Amino acid sequence: MDILKEINGASTIGIGGHIRPDGDCIGSVMGLYLYLSKVCPGVEIQIFLEKPADIFSCISRIGQIRTDFHTEVEQFDVFFALDTTKERMGKAESYFDQAKKRINIDHHISNSGCGDVNYLMPEASSTSELIYDLMKDRSQIDVEIAKALYIGIIHDTGVFQYSNTSPSTLKAAAELISYGFDFPKLIDETFYEKTYVQNQILGRALLESFLFMNGKCAVSMVDKKTMSFYEAQPHDLDGIVNQLRKTKGVECAIFLYQLDTLEYKVSLRSNGKVNVEKVASFFGGGGHERAAGVTMQGTFHDIVNNLSAQIAVQLRETSRWDVPGGSHVPRNY
Ligand code: AMP
Ligand code: MN
Repeated sequence: MDILKEINGASTIGIGGHIRPDGDCIGSVMGLYLYLSKVCPGVEIQIFLEKPADIFSCISRIGQIRTDFHTEVEQFDVFFALDTTKERMGKAESYFDQAKKRINIDHHISNSGCGDVNYLMPEASSTSELIYDLMKDRSQIDVEIAKALYIGIIHDTGVFQYSNTSPSTLKAAAELISYGFDFPKLIDETFYEKTYVQNQILGRALLESFLFMNGKCAVSMVDKKTMSFYEAQPHDLDGIVNQLRKTKGVECAIFLYQLDTLEYKVSLRSNGKVNVEKVASFFGGGGHERAAGVTMQGTFHDIVNNLSAQIAVQLRETSRWDVPGGSHVPRNY
């Protein structure tokens, strides 16, 4: 895809990503925004996302993000949906729908394309890596663009740790750090550093976690009451599911947090044997083979029951969760 050809003649461009934006979503949106602002100076470009976490304030012009969405829809000549399907865009979906031309760029295997033009590469580490590949005019890339894309890549690869890291990911990262920014500081401050409250909730979620399916699944949950006790936002829970995944013997980690009385956001992580994208897609979500998510309705118990039945099929295990006396469910559940 030639981005400049695709936007040729446009006088207004919109860019959006998914709800509860993560590092890759923010990095790719900001990277593309900074790049297009330079290469098409006369074009009005607007970016729409939910408010990014404070850790991303190091990204240049992050304050330009519009978190207000008018009810009467503005029509853009071109609208980009990055790192998402249109259904996950939240309020920006209507802007995307009404645009004269819709462009979808994503690396989620569950995305079959929702634009007039689709650039879908499930083998790519991140949408930020894709955006970097699409910046054909390398001379326009500057340190601020490089920083935004680098942040996106480190967040979706767990700092080059996950199996989605490829030689081309590392090549892109190598080229990006050549623009000269303090990348160890960026990695620490946007990826590893936790606030006191984030550590407290992580500790609590680990303490209350339990194993089932012969130790192959680890599950934990944070309810609304706990969220409000800690005044925690969803992004304060990042990393919990990954820590569960690291438990020795665990093939699949499940983490839920409560959105409403009978509604939970589910995160799934796999160590390779379980394709969690299949599990999430079965319930209407999506993602990647080793990292996927879905929003589900029901009680905590019912949701874990339903998920574990799907996981059990892949592991050729019986779902231990339902066997009386067979699951290690703490009394308070
Ligand atoms: P999460 O568990 O929310 O960190 O998500 C893990 C991966 O799955 C990320 O790449 C998300 O973008 C993706 N994902 C999460 N929820 C959904 C969903 N409902 N539909 C499609 N992809 C999702
Ligand atoms: Mn991504």
